[in-house]
Order: sequence, then structure tokens, then C-alpha cells
Amino acid sequence: MTNFVMYHYIKDFSKKSKYSDIKGLEVKLFEEQIKSLKKRFEIISIEQFLTKDYDSKIETCVLTFDDGYKEHYTLANEILNKYKLKGAFYVPVDVIEKKTLLDVNKVHILLSQKNENILLNRLKFHYNKINEKNNLDKIIESIDSSSRYDNKETIILKKLLQTILPDKTRFKILNLLMSDFIEDSETDIANKWYINKSEIKEMISNGMHFGSHGKSHLRFSHLVRKDQENEITSSFKFLDKMYENKIYQKTICYPYGDFNSDTLELLTKNNIDLGLTTIPKKFNNEMDMRIVPRFDTNDF
Ligand SMILES: [Zn+2]
Repeated sequence: MTNFVMYHYIKDFSKKSKYSDIKGLEVKLFEEQIKSLKKRFEIISIEQFLTKDYDSKIETCVLTFDDGYKEHYTLANEILNKYKLKGAFYVPVDVIEKKTLLDVNKVHILLSQKNENILLNRLKFHYNKINEKNNLDKIIESIDSSSRYDNKETIILKKLLQTILPDKTRFKILNLLMSDFIEDSETDIANKWYINKSEIKEMISNGMHFGSHGKSHLRFSHLVRKDQENEITSSFKFLDKMYENKIYQKTICYPYGDFNSDTLELLTKNNIDLGLTTIPKKFNNEMDMRIVPRFDTNDF
């Protein structure tokens, strides 16, 4: 059995910065978790997993990191090196090549700077100006806003901007809110927010794995097959450059864990060895390598 574990934000809260209010896994807790995972499992690289280079009688663990945050280089990478461990990192191409921010990061940035009620009012203002046919109040009424972590308005705001509104409307309103409330340009923030190419190359030369997280971090099941294929092939073109045309194991981590039957066929067609989901389960050898389950760090 293999436990895949996924990490997103890892933060050093002792260092204050402009957007440091954003929640995440404190780096000391990350280190504690690595130590406790090491006691329970043998932590292996994704290459070892793919080549079955481990003792199958022992329960193993693979560490994965999504979205290419700068702290994956400055913090996680350091700790992995300290314990001589290898991680698998999944970076969407656009955050590096186009210097754009992921939608989910924009929402977090907005919430770190402005009160959720102010943001929600402004969202309503923009929505009504765009003249959408559907009544926003009715949409809001239908949202299940119960949560263990966030208040009602925050949940509504997150759900509207991350999933519920149609993609075009979401993108438009997110950008309007960013220009209303955030002084720094998207490029300036993205430069600090994400890992860069030389950092990726350095990590690869130290034995870390990089895989595809799509080009534009879109939900694959929302895309027609041709667009899915473009997301996949262009992300591997980017990785070929990062691996400097050396041979490497091809893996993919579906943005939002989202995929459909087209995605699975495209993996086979493009010789991609492994697809990571967000289904929280242990992996056993009877499972499809294109639908590998993964636990969140909070599950441990
Ligand atoms: Zn992601």
C-alpha cells in the first residue's frame, strides 16, 4: 500500500509580509509531519514508486506538492533535503510562462486584504453590471454555506468565484475585484508567489520530480477533448525544457483532481505513466495508475 500525500501552501508565519495572513501549513508543522510520516511509512520518490523500487511488504508514502508556490522551493525543498527525501512537484505552466495568478490564489489574496462583506457587495455590483440573466441573490440562496473553517460570507464568496459562476464571468469579476482592491500588478505578485524556471531546474538536478499540472489550471472535465489534449501536451513541452530534454518519468496531477474518460484515454495515448487525483484513499496495486488516490496533509 502507498499513501500519496498532497501539500499546497506551506508558510513561515514568523516572516511578516504583505499577504502573509493567508492560511497555510506552518513550516514547523510541515517538518513535524514529515518526521511522523517517516516513522510510520517508508517515504519513497515517485520514480521509485513507478519502477516498483521498494519493499512491497512495507507501507510506503509519496510526497506531492501542488501549484508551484515559492515556498515549495524556499521551505519544503530545504526540509526534504535535510531528511534526504524526494518530492513530486506539480506546477501549472501559465503561472511561470505568463506570470498569471491562479483563481484560487486571487480569492485568497482578496480575502487577506479586504473584509468579505465589502468584497461580496462589490462582486454583486460587478455581476449586475455584466448583466447576467440569472439572478445572483437566487444563486446565493442556493449555496450551502456551512463550513468548519469559514464564515458564511467567505464561503459564498469563495464558491461563487471558484466554481459556481460561469468561467468567463468568474474570470472577469475576479480581475475587476483585483484592480479595485489590490495595488500590486498580477505579474509582480506572480513573480514572488511562484517558483521560477531556474529553481525548478535546480530542484530537478537534486533529484526532485516535476510533473504536469496542466497549462492553465482548468478543470479537465469542463474541456472538450481537443482542449484537454492541448493542456496536456503543452505542459509536457514545458517539462521537456525543464528536464533539458533528458528522459524522465511522465506524471500528471489533475487540476482540482478533476478528470473524465477523455483524460484517461489521453494519458494512455501520450504515454503518461501516472495520474494523481484528490480521492482520499490508500493506493494498492490493483488500482488504475491513471486514477491514483491522494490524501490531503490534513488527513494525517
Ligand atoms: Zn492545483
